[in-house]
Amino acid sequence: MENCVFCKIVTGEIPSAKVYEDGEMLVFKDIEPKASVHLLCVPKEHFALLAELTPARTALVGRMLNVIASHAAAWGLSDGYRLVVNQGESAGQTVHHLHIHVLGGEKLGW
Ligand code: 5GP
Ligand code: ZN
Repeated sequence: MENCVFCKIVTGEIPSAKVYEDGEMLVFKDIEPKASVHLLCVPKEHFALLAELTPARTALVGRMLNVIASHAAAWGLSDGYRLVVNQGESAGQTVHHLHIHVLGGEKLGW
């Protein structure tokens, strides 16, 4: 989608520090990390909200969770991690392309 920063990261128009990529998702380092490890897992297809899930997108989000779980140790998260999915303005969503924050690498406060 035009003017979507994560779509531009998916196409490579905006550079990112990628840690994982396959045909349907990308995982890269957050540019303003809120923890020692702060990654963003995004679908390559643009959509903003969980409210827009279709059966295919629901399956994709499941695969995103599976990729996170299976790569967590390699990403320095073997002691645990937190997933955050901000939905809408009040929750602090600033990029309107669905993304899962993956936070860890240290003892997290709330
Ligand atoms: P939100 O607040 O929408 O849940 O999270 C958006 C996240 O995207 C923020 O943590 C922000 O630091 C990150 N972000 C915004 N622009 C860029 C960018 O150009 N590159 C990277 N790697 N992260 C970005
Ligand atoms: Zn997008």
